Amino acid sequence: MTHPESLALLRRVDQRVRLQLSPLAAAIDQQAHYPEDILRGLGEDGVYAALLPAEAGGRAPGLAAAMAAIAEVGAVCGSTAFLAWCQSASVWLLRHAPPRTELKSLMTELAAGRRLGGPGLSNAIKHLAGLEPLRLRAEPCANGYRLSGDLPWVSNIGDGHLFAAAAAVADGGKLVFLADCDAPGVRLCDGPPTAGMAGTRTLSVKLDQVFVPAERVAAEPADFAAFIRRVRPGFVLAQAAAGLGIVQGCLDDIQEANRRDGEQNRWLDHSYQDLAAELAGLWSEAKTLAPQAEAGRVQPLRVLRLRAAVGELCLRAAMSAQLHAGAAGFLLSHSAQRRLREASFIAIVTPTLKQLRREIDLAEQAQPA
Ligand SMILES: Cc1cc2nc3c(=O)[nH]c(=O)nc-3n(C[C@H](O)[C@H](O)[C@H](O)COP(=O)(O)OP(=O)(O)OC[C@H]3O[C@@H](n4cnc5c(N)ncnc54)[C@H](O)[C@@H]3O)c2cc1C
Repeated sequence: MTHPESLALLRRVDQRVRLQLSPLAAAIDQQAHYPEDILRGLGEDGVYAALLPAEAGGRAPGLAAAMAAIAEVGAVCGSTAFLAWCQSASVWLLRHAPPRTELKSLMTELAAGRRLGGPGLSNAIKHLAGLEPLRLRAEPCANGYRLSGDLPWVSNIGDGHLFAAAAAVADGGKLVFLADCDAPGVRLCDGPPTAGMAGTRTLSVKLDQVFVPAERVAAEPADFAAFIRRVRPGFVLAQAAAGLGIVQGCLDDIQEANRRDGEQNRWLDHSYQDLAAELAGLWSEAKTLAPQAEAGRVQPLRVLRLRAAVGELCLRAAMSAQLHAGAAGFLLSHSAQRRLREASFIAIVTPTLKQLRREIDLAEQAQPA
């Protein structure tokens, strides 16, 4: 049965999306407008706190409810859904961190949307998949570590914001930490313009001897790999929700186009009915896996398969929406055009489709016949 607080949460989010986000979606996409007020408002609505158990100050409806809320946002604006994921992922990470006073206080602030932050963890996730070395180095010092190196892409950051990342210690250990974007030694740099997601405040982060106190360490070297394994399924599921939302947006565009040109559109592949059935199938799997991820007993392979299927469906649905919309959908201002770029992003953000297919293949080969 659906938790009553989940329904109330979705009502609040639905209202915010219709009244506040919908009129801004084009500016977020084309004028790099960073929807800070909306992200903070989603915190007030309880989207991020949904990830926390009641005893940690959460509102208890859980990961599945947070996913439904992120998807609701994604149906109108993929960039804002990704930002809501960044914020949710930061909260989820701290939920799994040691119960240090400092980390708990940051978790409360992030869950309420009073502070904002992004997970710069693609590098760590690729590192654990054997794809690249850690880009940050940590030198132990009195009461903490000094961090140096750079991360090419981190979203949802800026003055007053936080970011999480992983670093390698010289003795071979690895850790996860949280740092302030305005700490001495941190530089945030704009990169070249991207094809989309311009409003996500995605910057490169350069660290030069940045002091991170021991109480800001979210995973100690002895727990590093186990920590990422604990955190990753919920991370990946919540990110999949942004993609599921984008698919819903594509369906909305297709329905709209069919009202005008249903007769010709029936010659196209990937009809509204086909895509809607696929979307329902993926939601059913997502809702099965979310409580299992919360309980720490989800099968990682099922999560990877779901996330890959979401990336693939995004690409099919967005191309179909563009074709259904016809020439109107080729206008830069049309939502189907924007969703093509949002859908590509879901396939190239870590875990990327190429990484997922590789990991699924390796896991399947490792399974007993
Ligand atoms: C709009 C946008 C937002 C993103 N937000 C986040 C985020 O919030 N957190 C996060 O951790 N990651 C973020 N990423 C990174 C993303 O998740 C992928 O890790 C990244 O796109 C690399 O993908 P890939 O694995 O296909 O590597 P490839 O694109 O195949 O690149 C191979 C390697 O080259 C290096 N590389 C790639 N791009 C650059 C660059 N610009 N400068 C220096 N080295 C580079 C990296 O080590 C990368 O692993 C974002 C990317 C984009 C485009």
